[in-house]
Amino acid sequence: MDYADRTPRSRALSEQFQRWMPGGDTRSITWFAPHPAVIEHAAGHELTDADGRTYIDLLNNYTALVHGHAHPRIVEAITEQAARGSVYPAPHAGQAALAEQLVRRVPSVERVRFTNSGSEAVMQAIKAARAFTGRPLLVKAQGGYHGSWDQVPLTDLETGQGMPPELAALVRMVPYNDLGALEALLARQGDRVAAVLLEPVMGEGVIAADADYLHGVRTLTAAHGALMVLDEVITFRLAPGGRQQTIGVSPDLTTFGKIIGGGLPVGAVGGSERVMSVFDPRRPDHLHHAGTFNGNALTTAAGLVSLELLTPQEIERIDGLAASLAAGLREAMTAHGLTGRVTRCGSLLHLHVGLEAEPRDFSDLDLGGKTLRDIHLACMAEGLFIAPRGLMNTSTAMDEAVVAEAVARFGRAAAQVVQAGRATVS
Ligand code: PLP
Repeated sequence: MDYADRTPRSRALSEQFQRWMPGGDTRSITWFAPHPAVIEHAAGHELTDADGRTYIDLLNNYTALVHGHAHPRIVEAITEQAARGSVYPAPHAGQAALAEQLVRRVPSVERVRFTNSGSEAVMQAIKAARAFTGRPLLVKAQGGYHGSWDQVPLTDLETGQGMPPELAALVRMVPYNDLGALEALLARQGDRVAAVLLEPVMGEGVIAADADYLHGVRTLTAAHGALMVLDEVITFRLAPGGRQQTIGVSPDLTTFGKIIGGGLPVGAVGGSERVMSVFDPRRPDHLHHAGTFNGNALTTAAGLVSLELLTPQEIERIDGLAASLAAGLREAMTAHGLTGRVTRCGSLLHLHVGLEAEPRDFSDLDLGGKTLRDIHLACMAEGLFIAPRGLMNTSTAMDEAVVAEAVARFGRAAAQVVQAGRATVS
């Protein structure tokens, strides 16, 4: 039985949901054809859908749930806080404690502001960079994902979709991992650039930036008076001080999200006291930064526990689980004669079907091929929840037995896709 046959209730609900939400969903990337699995509940490493099927969750809400679903300590913290109020129109100790954690862990961060999403954190970081430098332009990598703010489109192609040309004119795209291209751009327009915004590991494809590249970006931005903004929304799970700790690079601003909220909506921007002072309300010319739920008490309570639980030992353990998973996936692909690669950085992984060489830039990727789509659906049919584009990650709710079972399910999915492909060809 294929995925559609196994999920009749999800299909019926999905059709019903279309009466109230376009396409029956509310996030572009969670929808896929023929219909997404409608989820009823989740715990630890497992999701359960409306048909009563369970999936090993290798997506963890796109890397946000580093401790899996409904971790008892996080549930307890949220429940306790809910009884004392969820959000106040005033500062509170929970905000200060979470901000202090970020400041302690990340040397480049001296002051923090909270938002409700990574997208908003990026938006505030870029506004802060423009306010601080008095310059208009933003430089980002082609294929760098920084959320849904229209001033950080994924690629040039996206600039037409709801983004007026006047806004597109404020963005410059550069290839990832290519210092020469950035150097050439800054040589021409560096005096108009407010910020260079980069992920230390590109989430699209899980492509790690070379350490030399990031150090080079630091030197070039400083030389041109532009700010370096490192987006650690995904990569903060990789080390207690984020990927910048491992690389030894010190950006002017850092954006955070996902794991710092323990599963609740969150974002944060942090940086040096000097740059972050643009937000200081005591300054008459300060940058206005509002948000009804910024730093709400539920999120900060959950976030504090999430960070406390993510010890260096646990980071090492989930990195090891991801290494086993990557090795198992590679073996299964080889065993079934599927060409491809699995990229990995710490606990982040990406399956690439049909790719022969290690990707270094977005242009090396093929995230929408038919075989990948078939593998995704076959994984879903086997009870393995991964992103349609092949993104995966491990969580502290997993162990080697879960990884072995995930590899076994992937092997069965790969076998089905290969057999079906042969049947089509013959
Ligand atoms: N930046 C990066 C690197 C991300 O991966 C994401 C989300 O996946 C965002 C920003 C946006 O975060 P959010 O979805 O919380 O708005």
